[in-house]
Amino acid sequence: MIRKDVAALKLAPNAPVGWDEARRSLDGLPGGGLNIAWEAVERHARGPKASQVAIRWLPAAGAARPITYRELSEASSRFANLLRARGVRKGDAVFVLCARIPELYFAVLGGLKVGAAVSPLFSAFGPEPIATRVNLGRGKVLVTTEALFQKKVAKIAVPMPTLEHVLRVDSPEFRREFEAASPACEVVRTEPGDTSFLHFTSGTTGSPKGAVHVHGAVVMHCATGRVALDLHEGDVFWCTADPGWVTGTSYGIVTPLVHGVTSIVDEADFDAARWYRILEEERVSVWYTAPTAIRMLMKAGAELAKQHAFPSLRFVASVGEPLNPEAVWWGMDALGMPIHDNWWQTETGGIMIANTAAMDVKPGSMGRPLPGVEAAIAHRRETGIELESRNDTEGELALRAGWPSMFRGYLDQEERYRKCFVDGWYLTGDLAKRDADGYFWFVGRADDVIKSAGHLIGPFEVESVLMEHPAVAEAGVIGKPDPVVGEVVKAFVSLKAGFTAGEDLRMEILGHARKRLGAAVAPKEIAFSTTLPRTRSGKIMRRLLKARELGLPEGDLSTLEEGA
Ligand code: AMP
Repeated sequence: MIRKDVAALKLAPNAPVGWDEARRSLDGLPGGGLNIAWEAVERHARGPKASQVAIRWLPAAGAARPITYRELSEASSRFANLLRARGVRKGDAVFVLCARIPELYFAVLGGLKVGAAVSPLFSAFGPEPIATRVNLGRGKVLVTTEALFQKKVAKIAVPMPTLEHVLRVDSPEFRREFEAASPACEVVRTEPGDTSFLHFTSGTTGSPKGAVHVHGAVVMHCATGRVALDLHEGDVFWCTADPGWVTGTSYGIVTPLVHGVTSIVDEADFDAARWYRILEEERVSVWYTAPTAIRMLMKAGAELAKQHAFPSLRFVASVGEPLNPEAVWWGMDALGMPIHDNWWQTETGGIMIANTAAMDVKPGSMGRPLPGVEAAIAHRRETGIELESRNDTEGELALRAGWPSMFRGYLDQEERYRKCFVDGWYLTGDLAKRDADGYFWFVGRADDVIKSAGHLIGPFEVESVLMEHPAVAEAGVIGKPDPVVGEVVKAFVSLKAGFTAGEDLRMEILGHARKRLGAAVAPKEIAFSTTLPRTRSGKIMRRLLKARELGLPEGDLSTLEEGA
């Protein structure tokens, strides 16, 4: 246990912590309604924060570019006007496929201003995941760059019938039009229940799920920014997540801007020496990162950390996968403070369970439910759910439905959405335990989805692409435990008659998967197998593949097809 001296903590008086206080600290649109872009940018750009730095952009090479709230307002308005000129109206879907460059932020905020459903896509996705998501979300506009267009979009083999425009933000034509556009635009009136973002997430079966989020979620982002991330006036905040994943949008774009602080955006990928330099030189005071990154810093060695000092750093939090206790202790040693684990998922839209600044930290625990969040351990029964009254007992993590950032649907999958809710509780798909002090402990996923470097990967999406290869008869994909990235994607394939397993074929199939899926999703390992274990109804038994891979007990085999 790491005890805190609460009296010594810098907690601002009247800090908004509950949803009602958070609601009161927002402005609302001048004529009524609520829009995230207004709360994040416009109200600051029109007030005393206009010339304060909103985003400090660190390009992969070259000098930092500070972007003030006024500049962010103007650039996102230009973008909004360009989208409007292309017929984008409230509810239309705008996809953004960019690396972490300023235009990504202008496009997202501009899209929100016109009331679009905005969906940032991870730039390490290959053509397949991009096309699947654009089609599921009925994308009207895709915002990208020349390089990503050539490398990915141009290689999409399937039709994207709803897509009307592809904007390449670094093309000379786009730049000219952008400069000529008006830096002012009226923010469309949206209500708390209107769609703001589409975030795609993976399940065990079928296509990715498009989780629908709403403008009212900003209440949660405001509240959690304060209570879970300890944001205060004057902070320099760095969220290392890419906006292609929900953390990078909710906490890499919306939350710091709503709080009117300065947000660091680094274009480059992970590099231990660079990250320590950013923490030190940019005087980061609140840092939100992920276990994989922390483990990579740990691997880079204490020596490197000791070459830097972090006098500005006040609070460090982590999310996305289990944070091992050693990582929390490493924080004490290398950064001078514990790392505060917190838990949430795409569907919750915001942090639900956290180790907050004012709480004692139990290394290995995700913390306690935030004010206003009711969490329980549940067991699914035929007639509903049963809530676990005993401590330290494993069950499914459940949340009382109704928090402001709760997802409002899965695109086109009403039944799947409905099934997530039982007796007024949302069932998360995670297994957890609660201890006597009300701290929650992550146990594992209840399904087969894979968490690799904090990114959720659906085995079905990977298997489908492997099956497209002419040599592959069947494919089963699992997450294989890895000490740094949590899990790596491992595929088992059986071959069609006439093909022989061998190194050349393995490399060819790996190359095919990488080209279609992109580096973020493709398997790292492929093993050949003459047959794959299937249930009698024909489903690949991933659980069994995993147990065999890890040398674990094979469990209940009653549904296994003979001979597998
Ligand atoms: P995503 O929807 O991609 O954000 O992934 C959400 C999932 O990541 C959760 O359902 C958990 O399985 C996992 N996860 C998120 N935060 C944590 C955490 N602090 N500890 C353990 N697992 C986590």
